[in-house]
Amino acid sequence: MENRAKHLVFLGCGLLCAAASVFAVAGAPSAAEGTQGGQSAPAANAPAASAPDFPVASGARLAGDDKQTRFILDLDRKIEFRAFPLADPYRVVVDIPQVNFQLATGTGSAGRGLVKAFRYGLVMPGGSRIVFDLTGPVKIANSYVLDAANGQPPRLVLDFEQIDRTAFVQALAPESRPELKPAISDSTTATIPAVTTAALPPVTTTDPRPLIVIDPGHGGIDNGTQSGDQTEKNLVLGFGLALRDRIEKSGKYRVVMTRSDDTFIPLNDRVKIARTQSAALFVSIHADALPRREGDAQGATIYTVSDKASDAEAERLAEAENKADAIAGVNLTDEPTDVADILIDLAQRETKTFSNRFARLLMDEMKSTVRMHKHPLKSAGFRVLKAPDVPSVLVEIGYVSNKGDLEHLVSENWRNKAVGSMVQAIDTFFAKRLATAGPAK
Ligand SMILES: [Zn+2]
Repeated sequence: MENRAKHLVFLGCGLLCAAASVFAVAGAPSAAEGTQGGQSAPAANAPAASAPDFPVASGARLAGDDKQTRFILDLDRKIEFRAFPLADPYRVVVDIPQVNFQLATGTGSAGRGLVKAFRYGLVMPGGSRIVFDLTGPVKIANSYVLDAANGQPPRLVLDFEQIDRTAFVQALAPESRPELKPAISDSTTATIPAVTTAALPPVTTTDPRPLIVIDPGHGGIDNGTQSGDQTEKNLVLGFGLALRDRIEKSGKYRVVMTRSDDTFIPLNDRVKIARTQSAALFVSIHADALPRREGDAQGATIYTVSDKASDAEAERLAEAENKADAIAGVNLTDEPTDVADILIDLAQRETKTFSNRFARLLMDEMKSTVRMHKHPLKSAGFRVLKAPDVPSVLVEIGYVSNKGDLEHLVSENWRNKAVGSMVQAIDTFFAKRLATAGPAK
């Protein structure tokens, strides 16, 4: 529960800002029970009688043209909402209480008029979100919830109207205006709520065992890659939980998950979890996909951070993974600038040595049990690997776009073998560290 509480603080700061206070996580039902994004969330085994009674969204559609576009969401009751635009990329975010989305698969993937596409899903327990990707700057000309009438259910209606960039930027909340942001944002300025992670004391514990942070990628509104009804967010969560259980069974390490259910966690908050807990190792778990035209790669790949990507595929992948926050409607103008990145780089050298060492150990162990990519060690500018003081790797456990890999990814037997070799690599890594450098952090 402590970790969950921490996540909510992180979310309140980094993601939802003012929106978090609107919903105040009423009731905080378990996020894992929700059905999100029209995708196959893990089936809720609880009997229906005990399932939380969330509002149900049963239909969503777009109408209009590239001057005026209307969005309509059919609901089973009226809900509160808060809609706001974000710049760079142009998006509109609608925060609503947790909603059970029962929309046809593929809803939102095709746009119309001013909307390129939209996504929907959980961003925190008690809070869902709809994110619209826009073709250009728009204003929210109208937004309201209609009562049921004339045989129509209650509806959430948003009207978007084309405007120019100047008018768009003026309509943004002050903290969201890209032009007005200082080059390096001070995390204590008034644009961020008073409770920030910087103000949190470091986690102190008398437990001397090294702490490993496991980071299942994506979650909630961000499905990651997908193939059929398999989503990356669910595959990597299952893998991460299995890895946690196996590591904890050894009794040698403490483990913290960045997420243990289907909740969205912003990239920076994943890094902050590792840093505030003084983690000795950070392992991010993903499952990649290649666009059709790029062939049919297969096998697991282990990534470390670097300024310059080791190859074009690594660069594309880091770019795709770094988009997670934009996908979930995080205000990217709050993100650190390149100047800050340079300072981080200087502090990162020793950490990089350890990250690379762990990546090699992991490859040696995994290659005996798991099919590896033909170039299994790569590097690129993954934001989630940028903790300057925590050795970090990102493991793409396989390609959901490859039939053979996908069969492995959903196989419990394969997962057990892969998890086993990861634990072996972790043991070797810490055995060496303890022998050469004294106690790990
Ligand atoms: Zn991913």
